[in-house]
Amino acid sequence: MLTQPKYKRVVLKLSGEALMGDQGFGISPDVIKYVAAEVRKIYDLGVETAIVVGGGNIFRGVKASSFGMDRASADHMGMLATVINSLALQDAMERNGIPTRVQSAITMNEVAEPFILRKAVRHLEKGRAVIFAAGTGNPYFTTDTGAVLRAQEIHAELLLKATKVDGVYDSDPVKNKDAKFIKKISYMEVLEKQLQVMDMTAISLAMDNGLPLMVFDMMTPGNIKDVICGQEIGTLIS
Ligand code: UDP
Repeated sequence: MLTQPKYKRVVLKLSGEALMGDQGFGISPDVIKYVAAEVRKIYDLGVETAIVVGGGNIFRGVKASSFGMDRASADHMGMLATVINSLALQDAMERNGIPTRVQSAITMNEVAEPFILRKAVRHLEKGRAVIFAAGTGNPYFTTDTGAVLRAQEIHAELLLKATKVDGVYDSDPVKNKDAKFIKKISYMEVLEKQLQVMDMTAISLAMDNGLPLMVFDMMTPGNIKDVICGQEIGTLIS
């Protein structure tokens, strides 16, 4: 059993949908508590942890625009949804003993700090976790892209993409029983085969700068810690 962290600074990407558990909408108190406890395990190892949360459990811009809403307005709503999730997670993390700051890409000084790169890095160095809210701050992007962007800005060594499945398969394991699990794959292959891991923009941005991505199942207790300690869990995209 490996117990020493292999990484010093990482970004964890949580989808909004992961936070709703099986309740179909919003934030599950049990799930958010669970996530905070899992993050605590790597915090205790001294790993500098930044988190990017999605908003799909509350609002997704693309979906609203498919009903005729202007895409930019819909995406603004989506980004605000990520702020709601970030504040909920901050609360859960602080109750779990992790000093946490939320930095938002859309300024709203009364509820969160604005995103300031140097300040974010300073928080991490001082042992505070940082949650990056509101994605990239721009419509037409996703929080996956926001996570890749922030990971590169803070010079994180790894982006952990937490999902409901244990990694990447060559086809959908839910629909196809013979789907094969992939342990390691290149960015280019993910793009060419259009594997639904992250959106193309996020994968391309990671590829351009060589940011390794680890796709793994977060609902198995201990997995985040095990990934950080170098255990071979999930799929590595590099
Ligand atoms: N969003 C955006 N720009 C960004 C990040 C997010 O406009 O840089 C909006 C977009 O509408 C998206 C929503 O925020 O649908 C929620 O983010 P996302 O879909 O990435 O959340 P997740 O799938 O991780 O729950």
